Amino acid sequence: MDTTVFEQHESTIRGYSRAYPTVFASASGARQVDEEGRSYLDFFAGAGVLNFGHNDPVMKRAVIDYLEADGVVHSLDTYTTAKRAFIQRFHEVVLAPRGMDHRMQFMGPTGSNAVEAALKLARAATGRREVVAFSHGFHGMTLGSLAATGNEAFRRWSGVPLENVVRLPFETAPGGRTALADYRSALLDPSSGQTPTAAFLVETIQAEGGVNVASASWLHELQDLAREVGALFIIDDIQAGVGRTGHYFSFDGMDLDPDIVTLAKGLGGFGTPIAMNLNKPEIDDHWSPGAHTGTFRGQGISFVAGAAALDHFTDETFLAGVLAKGEIMRERLEQLAAAHRERGWTVRGRGMMQALDTGDGAFAARVQRTAFESGLLIGPCGSGGRVLKLIPPLTISEADLAEGLDLLDGALAAALEVD
Ligand SMILES: *Cc1c(COP(=O)(O)O)cnc(C)c1O
Repeated sequence: MDTTVFEQHESTIRGYSRAYPTVFASASGARQVDEEGRSYLDFFAGAGVLNFGHNDPVMKRAVIDYLEADGVVHSLDTYTTAKRAFIQRFHEVVLAPRGMDHRMQFMGPTGSNAVEAALKLARAATGRREVVAFSHGFHGMTLGSLAATGNEAFRRWSGVPLENVVRLPFETAPGGRTALADYRSALLDPSSGQTPTAAFLVETIQAEGGVNVASASWLHELQDLAREVGALFIIDDIQAGVGRTGHYFSFDGMDLDPDIVTLAKGLGGFGTPIAMNLNKPEIDDHWSPGAHTGTFRGQGISFVAGAAALDHFTDETFLAGVLAKGEIMRERLEQLAAAHRERGWTVRGRGMMQALDTGDGAFAARVQRTAFESGLLIGPCGSGGRVLKLIPPLTISEADLAEGLDLLDGALAAALEVD
């Protein structure tokens, strides 16, 4: 495998390529194939971008047709037929059935940009500066979103102070169960020295942070607190949304009512970039035209493929399949944890985001390496990379899923032998 061009000319910052030291040449469904013809099952799926797999044939056809008709590929924020079709379809399939009247805001096509826009809007709407974010939260790499991100390995690269964020422990972190009540008391105490909060920013499942799952009751407590103190309730659904949990939103069925929802990663369906916030109208009205601009807001290909992706969510069997495959993943991980009880592994997740917390980053890295060598791509996450997170495409066949889980089983066994 010739990787010298990358090693000679590409930045030291290369990351995933060090864990997957090969050159991928093609991809289809849940598989990628490298230059030498080796096939890999992809249980990482672009960190949650490829919920519908690589090169989904329906989306590919829609994109090719659009390109052949000279459809508008780049449009800033001008009106296009592709954007109208996407907005209409999103309203019809996602918002209307839930009684949501949120407006769709497009920004530069990254999750980090969506979070930046949400934070700006929350500060503008409340006239307050401080935002509450949680331990182990991951919200992006630009300065505003990085300030909300918990991971020190990322934070230390900011080069400037990361400010205007108050950190509370997430529900599952030490102190997490009482933190909201304590913070509430402080906010209501005029001599606590606390400044009023513009927003609470939370992931319902902390994906990069180690697949930490918040309970519906804790999320309700958080939403109630936000309402009580006049702050916005923002759900970052960039990784857990778009079907990952077996529902369109990760918070579906919890009777929550977020003021802003951030979406990106899987939204464009095909793997091309797009980001979008859902803002309640009365909050959205705090923007003035062009207040948060971005050259790449008009992603024609993502509008076309993203609209096609929404068809999955009108098909009951699709989401039922996600839940069923999630169960298969869960059961297999629980069997593995039980078979190695002495190691104290734990299993967490919802839907098709399931994880094995090995408690040991060096061990998890060895599993990732061994898995790669046997033809399975997985990505560790959480503190020190000790959590093996499985996020295969939602469209993976049961046969591919079973094969990948067998490969994981083998990789764990091989890594244990070295231990
Ligand atoms: C990936 C991610 C982001 C950042 O998205 P980018 O496109 O990498 O900027 C923000 N929030 C969550 C929950 C994410 O998983």
